[in-house]
Amino acid sequence: MTIEQKLKSVVRDIIDFPKEGIVFKDITPILKDPGLCREIVDEYVRQLEGIHIDEVAAIESRGFFFGVLIAQRLNVPFVPIRKKGKLPYKTIAQSYKLEYGEAIIEVHEDAIVPGQSVLIHDDLLATGGTVGAAAKLIEKLGAKVEAVSFLIELDFLNGREKLKACSENIISLIRYP
Ligand code: 5GP
Repeated sequence: MTIEQKLKSVVRDIIDFPKEGIVFKDITPILKDPGLCREIVDEYVRQLEGIHIDEVAAIESRGFFFGVLIAQRLNVPFVPIRKKGKLPYKTIAQSYKLEYGEAIIEVHEDAIVPGQSVLIHDDLLATGGTVGAAAKLIEKLGAKVEAVSFLIELDFLNGREKLKACSENIISLIRYP
């Protein structure tokens, strides 16, 4: 079985979560299989070959699971990007549009050294709004978004098109048309 087949067989569809009409991709079964988690990190490292990464930034909270593991494997620092009000030190903020209303994410103002090449990681790419806001934070700190990675990409929401402006290197382990 390819890693894509394995992942597709364990990711669960949860109907009407978090609200009616939404089919939520539940990634938590992946975390129960340590061998699969290792394969996932191996696959990211393989796809990142030839791309220089100085730091990995990941988005709260499901981005943290593999964000930390990728950073460890690449032997580079990990940077948490969190929802407004969660980070304890001085932060910079970025707002972005949700289906209804707005959300704000933050990063510590000293989290990234200017000029560094950053990988942004999250669990899932839908419209691209969240990772687009994360990319703006990285750029505000004077760093470059060298690559973005996801476990899952929902092709039909066209997030990839939006992201092309942030980075040419977009890695998704599984895609749903
Ligand atoms: P976007 O901003 O690209 O529209 O939405 C992506 C964000 O929403 C990610 O941070 C992701 O964690 C979350 N998200 C949206 N839908 C799902 C889903 O079906 N499953 C999971 N695991 N996360 C989702």
